[in-house]
Amino acid sequence: MLIVQKFGGTSVGDLERIQNVANRVSKTVKEGHQVVVVVSAMSGETNKLVAYAEHFSQNPARNEVDMLLSSGERVTAALLSIALNEMGLPAVSMSGRRAGIVTDNIHTKARIESIDPTGMFDELNSGKVVVIAGFQGVDDNGNVTTLGRGGSDLSAVAIAGALEADLCEIYTDVSGIYTTDPRIEPKAKKLDRISYDEMLELASLGAKVLQNRSVELAKKLNVNLVTRTSFTDEEGTLITKEENIMEKPLVSGIALDKNQSRISLMGVKDRPGIASDIFNKLAENNVNIDMIIQTVGHDGMTNLDFTVPKNEVLDAKEVMDKFLEAHEIQDISYDDSICKVSIVGVGMKSHTGVAAKAFSTMAAENINILMISTSEIKVSMVISEKYAELAVRSLHSAYALDK
Ligand code: ASP
Ligand code: MG
Repeated sequence: MLIVQKFGGTSVGDLERIQNVANRVSKTVKEGHQVVVVVSAMSGETNKLVAYAEHFSQNPARNEVDMLLSSGERVTAALLSIALNEMGLPAVSMSGRRAGIVTDNIHTKARIESIDPTGMFDELNSGKVVVIAGFQGVDDNGNVTTLGRGGSDLSAVAIAGALEADLCEIYTDVSGIYTTDPRIEPKAKKLDRISYDEMLELASLGAKVLQNRSVELAKKLNVNLVTRTSFTDEEGTLITKEENIMEKPLVSGIALDKNQSRISLMGVKDRPGIASDIFNKLAENNVNIDMIIQTVGHDGMTNLDFTVPKNEVLDAKEVMDKFLEAHEIQDISYDDSICKVSIVGVGMKSHTGVAAKAFSTMAAENINILMISTSEIKVSMVISEKYAELAVRSLHSAYALDK
């Protein structure tokens, strides 16, 4: 098999850990696989470089920031290659440029436009392990770019796609994706497999493991992703297309989002175009809307409730105040003390009663549901934040995820 192995900052956090990574790569090669390694900077290194730049300027030129930050990954790549060669395993390190990664020219948050894998294949075919500095590429003019913080996952997935690798393993300090946050429910179980769409919906469970952008890219490029820990030999979680999951569980996981606030608009003028006006203005001001509920209007008025991320409430308020002033809305209230609990599973598509069970589970705990939204593979409920953990635990057991 051709395997891309990506090691995050903590996995290459010091020289001893880089040696451990070299041992793992060597083991994979000895099992008969071709290996391309993608590395992050040693943990803390990128932050240190950012601080160096800020020592001289609060607003350093972004192309210079990219020159600076991209160096962290190159250090790790070169060290790992040196370690591998020392072990008798031929290896070569490559910058983003040598790996053929071309991006747009938006410095510090560039997007990958194309990858020419010729250089990587040449080295692989000559029997070498290829070690690539993640998080970086070059624009059309050869300027170094970086992909945004945490971007080396994205490098790994894009490279796996370009090489048509059989597997892209993402090594972190977390052993995989769990049925829910084990800090809330110690009985949470590690999932063997999960579909891309479920993973995207369970973002809060994967937050520390994988960037959502990488999962989206893996889905688009059809890359089989595995998240696992570099500290033990424990198997991780495979993130793959739904067809590859034989036994589709009704519910795969319970996610909790405490970062939402509810905005309630009362006495909204019930005219065609009002929702369009409100939500377009919010979008223009970069406010991300999640759930929306409009209640049946009467006397020419309606009520509208929606949720936004907590740190976007002030931006939303600015927009809503204009509608108040224009007398299109009578009153507004903001509620910070809510959370969103979601149950996610592809099996829901073909089964009834999944949502009803969630509601009766809440009822049994005397938890009031404030808002509900559903999709093909998800049921989300907004409830009071003080019941967050209780709700997660009771749903986890209601769907027998601890079994
Ligand atoms: N070193 C970069 C960062 O800290 C990229 C990465 O680790 O993925 O953001
Ligand atoms: Mg990282």
